[in-house]
Amino acid sequence: MREVVSIVRCESYEEEEVFKALQKSIDLIGGIRRFVKEGDRVLLKPNLLYGKAPEKAVTTHPAIVKGIIRMVQEAGGKPFIGDSPSIGGLMKTAERAGIKEIAEEMGCPLVEFNNPVSLSDRRGNFFKSIEIDQNVLDADVVINLPKWKTHAQMLLTLGVKNLFGCIPGARKALWHLKAGEDRRRFAQVLVDLYQIISPSLTVLDGVIGMDGNGPNSGRPISLGLILSSTDALSLDQVVCDLLGLPRLSLMTNRVALEAGLGSDEIEIVGERIEEVSISKFELPKLSSLNWGLPDFLGRLLKNTLTSKPVLEKGRCKKCGQCVESCPPRSLSLTEKGPSFDYGQCIRCFCCQEVCPEGAIHIEPGWILRGYHQIRGTKFNPTRSVFL
Ligand code: SF4
Ligand code: SF4
Repeated sequence: MREVVSIVRCESYEEEEVFKALQKSIDLIGGIRRFVKEGDRVLLKPNLLYGKAPEKAVTTHPAIVKGIIRMVQEAGGKPFIGDSPSIGGLMKTAERAGIKEIAEEMGCPLVEFNNPVSLSDRRGNFFKSIEIDQNVLDADVVINLPKWKTHAQMLLTLGVKNLFGCIPGARKALWHLKAGEDRRRFAQVLVDLYQIISPSLTVLDGVIGMDGNGPNSGRPISLGLILSSTDALSLDQVVCDLLGLPRLSLMTNRVALEAGLGSDEIEIVGERIEEVSISKFELPKLSSLNWGLPDFLGRLLKNTLTSKPVLEKGRCKKCGQCVESCPPRSLSLTEKGPSFDYGQCIRCFCCQEVCPEGAIHIEPGWILRGYHQIRGTKFNPTRSVFL
């Protein structure tokens, strides 16, 4: 089936401009009443990764969330906002991100995900069971509201990745451990989650996105776009088109399409790709985790071949949040700051994701760096020279 993705320009977070752009974007794919009926309980799932001010571009902007609440309420739905931030509770995170204020103003409850339910009904493709919060399952409609950002482990966080927050709190670490060092395996977790939750609508906040050292410490970058679709997988593919990246460079796209889930036949409505493509967007320094080598060799050469988290000592405030967030406990806090056990490290980059100071960055393995130094070429995170 041909999926439809709308692309609409939106140059600022001025409230009325955002509302009009959201309306246009959703009207282009059938209008809000296609998704929300009178009396529906509608879960809005923004990106509330970490409690930072809206202008830092870490979280979905409150103007986007507010605009969607308004549309849902006008359609007779009963919206509520739900998420499970990486560090700190939902209320604190939402307050810092400007979401709590608009939620109160609009009479829209905030619900923290802390009630995991293990599902084993095989709606997913890759895992026998998966844990999702009860509130997600109880909603009549799920509207997915991701932010357009880079992601140290998965290259980008967009529509499919945003649903990882539907796994409550500390359970996320278990799924990181289950996936281990295998980025493909982690993508399978995300694709399973996407299939099971199956949001009715995904609206991507790409007005101001984040590039570089995302998803928490990158650079806010003006992109001026809102994308909407019933199919987050298609939407994620269109973002790759806009960035000039091969669609399969995003592992969630690759895993889903190779398994016959979703489609790459996409109808784009609204703006044309050529007119709004993004020419300057810095990707994270991501290199293949196993380089296609046999497992034993991959493990042996892991520290030299693969990207790894590295500390910038001058920026570290020794808060210990990275240590807390490390699923395999391969980080310890010393007098000089966190110390990495790279043998144990599974390269999930949760430490980089949660560091409030941007003190952890990703460094490619030295073979890859050396290769590019010798050739005088630039590191390209979407390609591996050895595969
Ligand atoms: S690296 Fe970041 S998260 Fe870790 S202790 Fe330092 S400031 Fe805190
Ligand atoms: S050190 Fe960082 S990248 Fe390595 S396992 Fe821990 S959190 Fe993940």
